Amino acid sequence: KSSVKSDIEIAQQATMKPIVEIADKLGLTDDDFELYGKYKAKLSSSAIKKLQENKSGKVILVTAINPTPAGEGKSTVTVGLADAFQQLGKKVMVAMREPSLGPTMGIKGGATGGGYSQVLPMEDINLHFTGDLHAITTANNALAALIDNHLQQGNALNIDQRRIVWKRALDLNDRALRKVIVGLGGPIQGVPREDGFDITVASEIMAVLCLATDLQNLKLRLSRMVVAYNVDKQPVTVGDLGVEGALTLLLKEAVKPNLVQTLEHTPALIHGGPFANIAHGCNSVIATTAASKLADYVITEAGFGADLGAEKFLHIKSRSAGFKPEAVVIVATIRALKMHGGVPKTELVNENVEALKVGFANLKKHVETIQSFGLPFVVAINKFISDTDLEVQALFELCEKENIPVALSEVWEKGGKGGIDLAEKVLKQIESNELTYAPLYDVSDSIEVKIRTIVQKVYGGKDVEFSSKARKQLKDFEGFGWGNLPVCMAKSQYSLSDDPSKLGRPTDFVVTVRELKPSIGAGFIVALTGDVMTMPGLPKAPAALKMDVDENGNAVGLF
Ligand code: ADP
Repeated sequence: KSSVKSDIEIAQQATMKPIVEIADKLGLTDDDFELYGKYKAKLSSSAIKKLQENKSGKVILVTAINPTPAGEGKSTVTVGLADAFQQLGKKVMVAMREPSLGPTMGIKGGATGGGYSQVLPMEDINLHFTGDLHAITTANNALAALIDNHLQQGNALNIDQRRIVWKRALDLNDRALRKVIVGLGGPIQGVPREDGFDITVASEIMAVLCLATDLQNLKLRLSRMVVAYNVDKQPVTVGDLGVEGALTLLLKEAVKPNLVQTLEHTPALIHGGPFANIAHGCNSVIATTAASKLADYVITEAGFGADLGAEKFLHIKSRSAGFKPEAVVIVATIRALKMHGGVPKTELVNENVEALKVGFANLKKHVETIQSFGLPFVVAINKFISDTDLEVQALFELCEKENIPVALSEVWEKGGKGGIDLAEKVLKQIESNELTYAPLYDVSDSIEVKIRTIVQKVYGGKDVEFSSKARKQLKDFEGFGWGNLPVCMAKSQYSLSDDPSKLGRPTDFVVTVRELKPSIGAGFIVALTGDVMTMPGLPKAPAALKMDVDENGNAVGLF
């Protein structure tokens, strides 16, 4: 199998069309986009406004089972499915998240799909792209600097410096910065205090940018963000500091979605990139909405498994944006199902039908979750070269026995043509089902009830337990009038529970909420469970060790 090319080799050998041609095919005029070189563009604000008049296309959400650390191919299937729709003559667009440099340099690699289902230019998108993540990092840190300056200049708002909740941010995995002390060195160096860094994709500004509906709404959300508590333990917001205008200014270009193309020249909007384990895990509302106004079908993705990304897509993103998906694709791989069936990571390439049958329980739970939202779905088996015929057949039989619609996806190997069967089954689901979508909880439920509902109905757990700190926060937050917001769970992506070692379909577990965080600008309450970290670390052998650049300036080893 030495003929297997790496993602970057395939991407570098591809011929892209100038982005103006892609824009033209979408019916966009010169005034509707701003070029960032030959192959990237941002939609202009006037285009975004103008598009609101158009009727909306159908949104198809791609989610997955609980993944292995390498990912199960959601982005790959998202891109390949869109290419398959295009091959079937449908007007389709991809709406995906922007990669973060943390995982790119760490363990997971880029986030532009893989094999023959990728978005291009892969190098640019995975590295600095159009600078959106840098703008978000800068806005985040400008706010941090303004808070510290407020303390230094007399602290008119009486901020309790021990209760500042706004942290600094960096788009890298850097565990040494999780907890820091700032302001050391005497009176002219600032007020000493404990601080910390989050990865940019966990910054509330990333979530705000992704949930904002336009620039004005972005400003309103920024002004609502809680940065600290004052000496009377009342929340202090960006609006109190009077800096929402400056932050919005820093983000005025970043808020515009980025237009690129797939290997098969299907148009794609790539915009915003919150993680799904520590944030809400979906690309921007502005991009998904714009894509739905430009195409009849939008294929979009939510991070990690259906317990994280899809739950948040449904309870947070689509609720706040006012759209519903028409169908869901649940990506599963045979290797991950074998892992859920107890096979160690080093042996996943060996045939093991028995383990696959045991691990199927994980897929089954995610299917039940999507069914409980009343959404039509298709399971996509993302085929790997190491999967044997016997394993594929066994998985098909397991699905068919349970009446689960299933299709094989070979988009990684074959591009859009490897996704035709999946695309046809998705279309059939959309056509033959009445949409009976309903969220699992009501925003008017108490925060505690909302969390318990997610734990029991989405994770399949027995109950939720709150630390004494979280319990006190439940009371305080309801008192501040934040009780009516949806909840954004921060949880391990590897397990349905909050313990990453519990694979398969654990039952009878209790999830522990250790702390709550207000994200009032984004419009949700974050519930931190288990040991989940908002600043990841690098693994023993980070992907960075394989990266290089050749004498012509081409990237090497970027997956
Ligand atoms: P996710 O979106 O679920 O995190 P990705 O689509 O980013 O997963 O895929 C993760 C990695 O796995 C990529 O490097 C991709 O090339 C690789 N990959 C995905 N599908 C396959 C497949 N069918 N065979 C081999 N490698 C694959």
